Amino acid sequence: MFVEGEAGAPPRIVQRPYSVASPPAVAGSDGYEMYVRLVEGGLFTPLLWRLPLGHRMRMIGPKGKFTLEPDDDRTHLYISSGTGNAPFVAMMRQLLVDGAPRRTIFLNGVSYERDLGYRELIEGWERDGGYPVTFIPTVSRPTAPENEGWTGRTGRVESIVAPVLDELSLTPADTIAYICGNPDMIIAAEETLLARGFREEQVKKELYWPKGKEPGGPGGTE
Ligand SMILES: Cc1cc2nc3c(=O)[nH]c(=O)nc-3n(C[C@H](O)[C@H](O)[C@H](O)COP(=O)(O)OP(=O)(O)OC[C@H]3O[C@@H](n4cnc5c(N)ncnc54)[C@H](O)[C@@H]3O)c2cc1C
Repeated sequence: MFVEGEAGAPPRIVQRPYSVASPPAVAGSDGYEMYVRLVEGGLFTPLLWRLPLGHRMRMIGPKGKFTLEPDDDRTHLYISSGTGNAPFVAMMRQLLVDGAPRRTIFLNGVSYERDLGYRELIEGWERDGGYPVTFIPTVSRPTAPENEGWTGRTGRVESIVAPVLDELSLTPADTIAYICGNPDMIIAAEETLLARGFREEQVKKELYWPKGKEPGGPGGTE
């Protein structure tokens, strides 16, 4: 997505990539849904947050290679941190449209419970069987006041990959993994999977930023 710089400042175009959370099937009728987090100290998102509703923006795409394998009857292990759950929501929504949902184990890690995006949708599917998904959220700051009352898993999402593989008997023979979000999380989760015998082509990855890059640092895609 593109947004122009602020009024009064010299004009500039700022560009950032985003996952699409809506299914391709509705792009022609409903457009695209995105799940974006405000990054304090970032460049694009503070500008985006200041735009009035209805402001026009330019978008190119969609493009990318983080896509489902066709006709794959393996269990799908989705691992995400923060807004990295967006492409998995799109994938499940599209598979529902196609009438071909796939058995899914969905791990999503956040700092605070309130950041669990799409929770109602996914838990609703899990509860009523609308999609064959087992949702396993985890919070990394269980002692924070914001997480008071949280009774689910704790720790970063990469730390629960191995226990979940064991508990649910997920093996490389019948599982494909997709990982999306924070690069450090992706590297750690992939290491666990490879150590369990997953082949590299069984671990698909979408890094939201280059490893080691902090907000406001050099190397943005302006
Ligand atoms: C293929 C791809 C898909 C992406 N999809 C999404 C998406 O669906 N939703 C989304 O919110 N972002 C997504 N991003 C990240 C997005 O492109 C921007 O980097 C992000 O919105 C921050 O932009 P900024 O200009 O405000 O911050 P910048 O000045 O560019 O600072 C970037 C820094 O902010 C931090 N950061 C970036 N993204 C996040 C995030 N999502 N959560 C926490 N910290 C972050 C990292 O430290 C990163 O180095 C995606 C990135 C890629 C490469």
